[in-house]
Amino acid sequence: TPLERLAREVTTCRACPRLVAWREEVALTKRAAFAEQPYWGRPVAGWGAERPRLLVVGLAPAAHGANRTGRVFTGDRSGDWLFASLHRVGLAERPTSEHAGDGQRLVHTRLVAAVRCAPPQNRPTPAERDTCAPWLDRELALVGEHVRVVVALGAFGWAAALGGVRRAGWQVPRPAARFGHGAQARLVRPDGEEVPLLGCYHPSQQNTFTGRLTEPMLDEVLGRAAALATM
Ligand code: SF4
Repeated sequence: TPLERLAREVTTCRACPRLVAWREEVALTKRAAFAEQPYWGRPVAGWGAERPRLLVVGLAPAAHGANRTGRVFTGDRSGDWLFASLHRVGLAERPTSEHAGDGQRLVHTRLVAAVRCAPPQNRPTPAERDTCAPWLDRELALVGEHVRVVVALGAFGWAAALGGVRRAGWQVPRPAARFGHGAQARLVRPDGEEVPLLGCYHPSQQNTFTGRLTEPMLDEVLGRAAALATM
């Protein structure tokens, strides 16, 4: 399918020297707990439904998460939180996600990272964000017509989602809508369909360890997205 072709293409991208060096260094040195495992060490493609009603836009692969497993949001604590919540609200078939062959399936949902390679400290530079944006644009060109709701994880995902849909010809709020947990903004697809954009704190350990993001808070936003996506 075109999405599979896109996934194959993105995994060969070497456009950001700093991120290429980091993703490959991490894959060589590994974390002791995963020393016996192969690391992916390449860009991580979008994954999930091919005609998604819900598009979840995250930040970037985690060094020992998706950069290890090769599947977005898989194999780290953020992914544990996200998949468990998606399962509770009926959008994932399993409550866990460990590796790319674990049998997990998403329901009407597709996950993408705004930046496709693991960055040091989980912080891509603005230049890296812009360099990677065309990959999101190509994914949106293939799936955008099916999308009924977008969830942005964190302010970075929010900005990337707004930029992506604007470049795809969607109407976005003016002045720009501000990110917040539970924030909702109105997007309009080129065919006139209204698509809500929901903001959600990123389920990173900085947020989940500190209690800034709790399971009920995550379930509230994803539950709202599930209701909107399946209406
Ligand atoms: Fe390519 Fe994006 Fe990775 Fe940069 S971050 S090397 S643009 S896939």
